[in-house]
Order: sequence, then C-alpha cells, then structure tokens
Amino acid sequence: MTAEQLSRLREVVEAEIQDIHAALEQWRACNGLDENGRQRVEETAVRMLHQDWKHNTDRRMMELLRLLGRMEEEDFGVCQECGEDISLRRLELVPTTAFCAVCMERLEQKEQKLAGRVAV
Ligand SMILES: [Zn+2]
Repeated sequence: MTAEQLSRLREVVEAEIQDIHAALEQWRACNGLDENGRQRVEETAVRMLHQDWKHNTDRRMMELLRLLGRMEEEDFGVCQECGEDISLRRLELVPTTAFCAVCMERLEQKEQKLAGRVAV
C-alpha cells in the first residue's frame, strides 16, 4: 500500500471516529444529569436500548482507535491468513478487517460448518 493510499484510508477512519465522538456527546447530553444534577429517568426499555447502543458504539470506537495504531505498523493491510495484500477497496469498506476477501469467505464457511455441527 502506498503512503497516499494509507493516508486516504486514515481519513476514512478518522471521519468515522469524529462521527462517533459527536454521537457520544449527544448521548451524554441525553443521558447525563439534568440541570438540577439529577439523573434523568427514562423508561427502562428505552434506557436498555441506549445502553446497548452505547456499548456497541464504545466498542466500535476502541476498534477504530486500535486500527489507527495498527496503521502505523509495517504489515498493516496484509492478510493475517495468507499474507497477501488486502485490496484497498475492501479496506475502505471494512477498514478493521485483518483478512482478504478470499480468506474471510473461507473462514466464515468454516465457522458456519462448525456452528452447524454444534447444532446437530
Ligand atoms: Zn488472505
């Protein structure tokens, strides 16, 4: 991968981090303390939905931050399974992937087979 490709990819990731950051700010504004310092009370179902969202969003944020760190490493963009370069198009779509499309498909099939075996 060229330095230019890498920096374009980094922009994609950083843009998503900014989006998440803004969404988290909003979340805090909705779920934080009200002007009297009291915790806002919400319907339990809504609150749980929000917690789910928060949990997933926090996890995604961590993933993206780790990814930025990984971009500094020399073997970034190389498939961890076969050692081939992961296509740039794929990295732009799924920047957090560690596998090329071919290996990913194979791994997923293997997983489905294993899952099938457990179910039977
Ligand atoms: Zn591969």
